[in-house]
Amino acid sequence: MSNESLANLLKEERRFAPPADLAAHANVTAEAYERAKADRLGFWAEQARRLTWATEPTETLDWSNPPFAKWFADGKLNVAYNCVDRHVEAGHGDRVAIHFEGEPGDSRAITYAELKDEVSKAANALTELGVQKGDRVAIYMPMIPETAVAMLACARIGAAHSVVFGGFSADALATRIQDADAKVVITSDGGYRRGKPSALKPAVDDAIAKGAGVEHVLVVRRTGQEDISWTEGRDVWWHELVDGQSAEHTPEAFDAEHPLFILYTSGTTGKPKGILHTSGGYLTQAAYTHHAVFDLKPETDVYWCTADVGWVTGHSYIVYGPLANGATQVMYEGTPDTPHQGRFWEIVQKYGVTILYTAPTAIRTFMKWGDDIPAKFDLSSLRVLGSVGEPINPEAWVWYRKNIGGDRTPVVDTWWQTETGAMMISPLPGVTEAKPGSAQRPLPGISATVVDDEANEVPNGGGGYLVLTEPWPSMLRTIWGDDQRFIDTYWSRFEGKYFAGDGAKKDEDGDIWLLGRVDDVMLVSGHNISTTEVESALVSHPSVAEAAVVGAADETTGQAIVAFVILRGSAAESEDLVGELRNHVGATLGPIAKPKRILPVAELPKTRSGKIMRRLLRDVAENRQLGDVTTLTDSSVMDLIQSKLPAAPSED
Ligand code: ATP
Ligand code: MG
Repeated sequence: MSNESLANLLKEERRFAPPADLAAHANVTAEAYERAKADRLGFWAEQARRLTWATEPTETLDWSNPPFAKWFADGKLNVAYNCVDRHVEAGHGDRVAIHFEGEPGDSRAITYAELKDEVSKAANALTELGVQKGDRVAIYMPMIPETAVAMLACARIGAAHSVVFGGFSADALATRIQDADAKVVITSDGGYRRGKPSALKPAVDDAIAKGAGVEHVLVVRRTGQEDISWTEGRDVWWHELVDGQSAEHTPEAFDAEHPLFILYTSGTTGKPKGILHTSGGYLTQAAYTHHAVFDLKPETDVYWCTADVGWVTGHSYIVYGPLANGATQVMYEGTPDTPHQGRFWEIVQKYGVTILYTAPTAIRTFMKWGDDIPAKFDLSSLRVLGSVGEPINPEAWVWYRKNIGGDRTPVVDTWWQTETGAMMISPLPGVTEAKPGSAQRPLPGISATVVDDEANEVPNGGGGYLVLTEPWPSMLRTIWGDDQRFIDTYWSRFEGKYFAGDGAKKDEDGDIWLLGRVDDVMLVSGHNISTTEVESALVSHPSVAEAAVVGAADETTGQAIVAFVILRGSAAESEDLVGELRNHVGATLGPIAKPKRILPVAELPKTRSGKIMRRLLRDVAENRQLGDVTTLTDSSVMDLIQSKLPAAPSED
């Protein structure tokens, strides 16, 4: 971004008060903000006491060597014990922990007592394979319960897991295995994807052939393919090794700062970074935010997070947060359109889901498919809806609340990152008067603000960079094996502050609006304009389902706004419509934000976690060779888009 701060263009006047019944019984009330403000460390020490410690911590934060933080450093705990055993000991062994719904329609309910046995057996099995405290284990799995069991088994014996999303290639897997120096890989023969078995084990074999040295591959049988290749001595079936183990396993207590996992960021902006999270602080914040932001009532709620366990959302809000809180949750293996476009709503209806956590990319897809699909299902059990992953366009927010939440549920837009480990900025469903499209306020105990180029806090109404001004319990501790990159990436742009890499603005009330990545901000005729705001303006037109906006080099304006749009089902592509969309953006945001070109396309390039990859669209708009496409879900999308590019740009 240049010296000019981010233009504040989008006006959103709609407001949604918390439902009275939810507010009356909310887990967390407005008072939490005051308490945390008066004594931030005391507040986090109190949240840490929600966990069960083998040795209670007496220190809260050691920040004597910034940016290397230690939280609850003299405490000891076992993360898996906190997620499983303690619920059984408290008499909740019969409570369902996981309602598993397989893509082909098979289902399985796993109670906390059963989960305890499974995790204990898997911990014994990993020990038998030679895995010890301090080792790393790579996990390359579909969305099946064994994935959570494998993660918890690692945590139980003090080995750090590195989950690699099952959609990644053998190359991506190989570099991640090598970077973390994993001793064992846990995988499966395959998983179900869009109605067919999709193999995983061959990618592990390839990764090892490419030089990723591991001692053992532990293989879960999910799809039962017969022609699976096998290396005797190295490869071991899960059902042969794990099922026969003892269900007794005594969890050892580890230091609060013992490594829990490494997770590579999704690679939207460049080479993935191995983000290291540790035990006590991470679990404290994952559990607290899950309790506060979703208002989780473990006795009655049925929670469902639709993310893949391969992303941080799956780590913190499928495995660690919900299980630490003793929640009952749904885990779904497949995609939203298999076998039909109502699959998600069928699952909500089947299990009586009360809390749903999904991503803007999914919500925009549901909008595109049409309101009539969710309308066919009974969604009346829902009481809180969450969003994560990208800024949510106000129109998508309102659609979500109306068509999924029956115009009754709060929507919590949760801003956080792999690096932050847990939610940082979000409304609270029983407290906050919600504004569609804004994550609004740092959670109690979190300090975030928006600064300009000189690190000065911007006044209300101003825009700039999102920064975190105080350490938080679930913060990353470093980039695995690269302390210097950790310092350079996050702590060098603004002295003493964590730079998140995202642009943001404060509105007149001081509420925070995320405006996309700083790299994506456009500079048009001397004004910084956020891609997010122009995209939201486009999506607010009834003919547009989805939009991606980039700034392309332009002789007169420095950068010109180029928009790629996906039209809604019934809208027909025409020059008139393109003109209308340009005028609509002009009317919504002001003439400066009018796109120079608008290109209707069938698909947008997205990362495997569903985020729009604007840098590739910028390459297209500037007629350049495409950059790295390996983290794309489907690289043929880019050929389609390139073939659509008209020779001469349309002028006003
Ligand atoms: P990489 O860092 O490798 O480019 P990534 O940033 O996509 O990958 P994640 O850690 O999964 O990997 O994503 C965090 C980013 O997602 C945030 O920095 C922000 O840009 C975006 N994001 C997540 N949630 C929200 C939200 N509620 N509102 C706005 N942006 C969000
Ligand atoms: Mg990032």
